[in-house]
Amino acid sequence: MSAPDLLVVRGLVAGYGAAPVLQAIDLTVTAGTIAAVVGANGAGKTTLLRALSGMIRPAAGQVLLAGEELRGTPVEQLVRRGMAHVPEGRGVISELTVDENLRLGGLWRRDRADAARALDEVYQLFEPLARRRRHLGHQLSGGERQMLALGRALVGRPRLLLLDEPSLGLAPRVVARTMALLRQLRDSTGLTVLLVEQNVRSALAVADQGVVMSLGRVVIAAPAVQLRDDVDLRHAYLGF
Ligand code: ATP
Repeated sequence: MSAPDLLVVRGLVAGYGAAPVLQAIDLTVTAGTIAAVVGANGAGKTTLLRALSGMIRPAAGQVLLAGEELRGTPVEQLVRRGMAHVPEGRGVISELTVDENLRLGGLWRRDRADAARALDEVYQLFEPLARRRRHLGHQLSGGERQMLALGRALVGRPRLLLLDEPSLGLAPRVVARTMALLRQLRDSTGLTVLLVEQNVRSALAVADQGVVMSLGRVVIAAPAVQLRDDVDLRHAYLGF
């Protein structure tokens, strides 16, 4: 039996003012897979994540998480229902320690014992964070802040992780490590990831599905391997 679709988006229209940025987005992400959303600057990738996580209110369309409608759900409810959004720029709180930042990710959880277990797991996964528990957010490197933002999301044990440009400003070595970690989480925990990336090659290398956006629309959604290996598709949609 094939895996169910965790995220289904139909006809999603959203933007910032009168003129919508997203023009009827359709998208499906299978549970336990990584989908990479790529496309030129201004294509609407960040706006898509914001509309999915309730940071902006969609004007039309459907967003289903495991078959349940999410549109109109308050942000804190979305987190309880399994969605975590790590925005571009990462949102680490500079004045709090690593440990305090991570604990924020599990504050809302009623199952305190499991929140503590999830925190331990994040420390095992990100060894540099374990060594810097008492460091303040602003004392961390870019790569460590990225780990912290990701770790904080994972403490909430999301089903769906929305990740905006995790590679931004990071050294290639750190980017490779982050991508490998996403794959490891997918394989070991069945995490589903919607990954927005400018770094098309890295994103398609880790993803199961590639989604190319242009001018607020999905122009093609295909197996990542096909977008990676088919020269005609690459030329037509990715320009390399
Ligand atoms: P980038 O990689 O440059 O972030 P993107 O594909 O993520 O590109 P978006 O950031 O979603 O694109 O931007 C899509 C469009 O929405 C652009 O035309 C942008 O100018 C506009 N836009 C983005 N944020 C805002 C905002 N806060 N207010 C008004 N317009 C915005």
